[in-house]
Amino acid sequence: TPPELIRNFCIIAHIDHGKSTLADRMLQLTGVVEGRSMRAQYLDRMDIERERGITIKSQAVRLPFTSRTQGHPDTTYALNLIDTPGHVDFTYEVSRSLAACEGAVLLVDAAQGIEAQTLANLYLALENDLTIIPVLNKIDLPAAQPEKYAAELAHLIGGDPDDVLRVSGKTGEGVLELLERVVAEVPPPVGDADAPARAMIFDSVYDSYRGVVTYVRVIDGKLTPRERILMLSTKATHELLEIGVISPEMNPGAGLGVGEVGYLITGVKDVRQSKVGDTITDAHKPADTALAGYREPKPMVFSGLYPLDGSDYPDLREALDKLKLNDAALVYEPETSGALGFGFRCGFLGLLHLEIVRERLEREFNLDLISTAPNVVYKVVMEDGAEHTVTNPSEFPTGKIASVQEPVVRATILAPSEFVGTIMELCQARRGTMLGMDYLSEDRVELRYTIPLAEIVFDFFDALKSRTRGYASLDYEPTGDQEADLVKVDILLHGDPVDAFSAIVHRDKAYAYGVAMAGKLKELIPRQQFEVPIQAAIGARVIARENIRAIRKDVLAKCYGGDITRKRKLLEKQKEGKKRMKMVGRVEVPQEAFIAALSSD
Ligand code: GDP
Ligand code: MG
Repeated sequence: TPPELIRNFCIIAHIDHGKSTLADRMLQLTGVVEGRSMRAQYLDRMDIERERGITIKSQAVRLPFTSRTQGHPDTTYALNLIDTPGHVDFTYEVSRSLAACEGAVLLVDAAQGIEAQTLANLYLALENDLTIIPVLNKIDLPAAQPEKYAAELAHLIGGDPDDVLRVSGKTGEGVLELLERVVAEVPPPVGDADAPARAMIFDSVYDSYRGVVTYVRVIDGKLTPRERILMLSTKATHELLEIGVISPEMNPGAGLGVGEVGYLITGVKDVRQSKVGDTITDAHKPADTALAGYREPKPMVFSGLYPLDGSDYPDLREALDKLKLNDAALVYEPETSGALGFGFRCGFLGLLHLEIVRERLEREFNLDLISTAPNVVYKVVMEDGAEHTVTNPSEFPTGKIASVQEPVVRATILAPSEFVGTIMELCQARRGTMLGMDYLSEDRVELRYTIPLAEIVFDFFDALKSRTRGYASLDYEPTGDQEADLVKVDILLHGDPVDAFSAIVHRDKAYAYGVAMAGKLKELIPRQQFEVPIQAAIGARVIARENIRAIRKDVLAKCYGGDITRKRKLLEKQKEGKKRMKMVGRVEVPQEAFIAALSSD
């Protein structure tokens, strides 16, 4: 396809504003997916995406579109649609997709208005110089307020409220008109067809049948099957086994030229060999400058993952190796815990990423896992100048500490103005520093804060939602590290520290953490044959204490001796229960205690 007939665009929106549903309508209207094979959120291919109704990996699909208003009648345009995930954990996926496009449909729910990720994604799109098409979605909803929000959107991006398109991804209303706007307003790609080939990798996915499938956008020149290609960052060369477009399945073709978006397969087995952000060129006639790369995804939250049954450890390693093939952001290394045995310390982009990885490990690889309380990454500087990066609280150094730094984020909160007071209170309680506040309209306000990541990742969003009756939205981005008065609190059972329960907290919150944890564990750990003290301590100083009184377990006494099968059943049940127990010194801790330790206050 010649560049003037290509339009590369993406849909950006706050989560749940209807990107995937709108993409479905576009697939149908352009005949790419026929009515009867249509299923909701067609591009969300992973089971977890479908169940949770969220988009995790970006997807690119080519839509043939015959315009009734542009070009000659019967000219078919190739619209490349790139669906993007909406959750903050996956912002890096969004930024990759944007770099492959010339235009973005900025989609806003007509019953909700602009939200925090609407802004975040809009700013990313503007940084990439994309043409923005403002669209209100869900106009079929009785609660839709198109007039009000068209004005809000026009005010935000500049322009006339009448230029804001109104569509419904559910009924299909306005979607053809939107495709016409894409053809008319998104600029066709520009590139040098005669220059050495340069293509940008914007995603790579591991497929168990095909190996790594790499999504590319060609900038200059052409890539053709069977030639040798060179990855500019690693200098590795590969044979191009297959190249083509996705519409909606992989269609191999004779190559991709300037401005085209598609996939290629080289036979590599690991997504890290086909690095997102890398530039692909022709090995025999290589380009000498790489395209501007992307930020590497950086793990922000760490947690220990342990098999419930120690003999599953090799299976866990294998499963992580397999997941890693498809998830460049996941990092892990072996670790041992006194309480939990052999496992892995894993790094994630955020809590949702953690949950998804854990769920995939349990579901796709049939593993039963314990995960320890997640924590952020701390930098500890010792008085002798030595520096430690701490990703596991139990490895917090014990010597003379000069300073501790923790990651902070710049948080943007959007909410109706009546909630300003309660939001400020919450942010203050979470050690936030206010950066600024703006009114988007009379009744909608944007607040900007610097807040420690550790205060945000766990339950901040829930707290924010419940204080604002669900009306506030949140987005944040890391902005570096900041010094803070942080200490390690240990939890001791019967005198033995339980490494899995150690936490790094602000000194002002250490006592509350210790009391809450000791109290919680007292409820969660069943009585043993002996008395068990639970202590919370900073170094050698005990700050909280609880006692679990002794009990004599005598389950069989209940059986009156008579019924043998009943007795056996009871014993078996008890044995099964044992499997879910972990020994800490002499104390048995049920798995539930570890899981409960995850849920913060
Ligand atoms: P995404 O997170 O932006 O991809 O949003 P989804 O496409 O998954 O949609 C979120 C929810 O909104 C789903 O329950 C959809 O059925 C619903 N939805 C999407 N578009 C419309 C629409 O135009 N009208 C109505 N009434 N509901 C919609
Ligand atoms: Mg989606």
